Amino acid sequence: MSEQLTIALSKGRIFKETLPLLAHAGIEAVDDPETSRKLILDTNHDDVKLVIIRASDVPTYVQYGAADLGVAGKDVLMEHGGAGLYEPLDLRIARCRLMVAGHGPWSEQAQRLRIATKYVNCAREYFAKQGMQVEIIKLYGSMELAPLVGLSDLIVDVVDTGNTLKANGLMPLESIADISSRLVVNKASMKRKHTRVQSFIDQIAEAVRQQEDAA
Ligand code: AMP
Repeated sequence: MSEQLTIALSKGRIFKETLPLLAHAGIEAVDDPETSRKLILDTNHDDVKLVIIRASDVPTYVQYGAADLGVAGKDVLMEHGGAGLYEPLDLRIARCRLMVAGHGPWSEQAQRLRIATKYVNCAREYFAKQGMQVEIIKLYGSMELAPLVGLSDLIVDVVDTGNTLKANGLMPLESIADISSRLVVNKASMKRKHTRVQSFIDQIAEAVRQQEDAA
């Protein structure tokens, strides 16, 4: 019997943009996570399962070996830290930028600037590198609201088109990092299931190359 492969994905953009890459590796989901309530999706291969979880949980599942592989945004990986994971491939999908945004350029002020974000570690590190002592306020969503209601001076969030910022009277101010989704692999799976995992990585890498060439 061949080895089981479990791949962790999040719903939405990452799932949609990963599907064509999986198809190139001959893997097709049997259910659609947007309509199914199942958390473990079967594929056309008995020995390949997809687990559908929150984007920010993907590194944790892969780190602990609950999934052999996963797809996670670089933003999520930067915030999580890389323990227990290999990051062999940039999938070049779900691209955006991690940015500082606010009403306008910030200035030195008597009080510490307040930064609202779900990217607490990234924000702390970024402002520390600037030599700025800031107060970080952890939020779980809708960061754009924070400066509008006086909860924070600035936000750190991922920005794609910038339309959400604009619609809320905010502007992108500084870029922290270019973001795209990465394939991550559990370190033990990479050793124990090496041939299977490496051939999967090679097939996905080829799919990424073909998509780039076609773009
Ligand atoms: P935007 O296109 O800049 O208006 O982005 C809309 C919202 O979608 C932002 O508030 C982001 O939080 C989110 N977003 C955009 N791109 C991504 C991405 N690649 N990964 C995760 N969240 C994203």
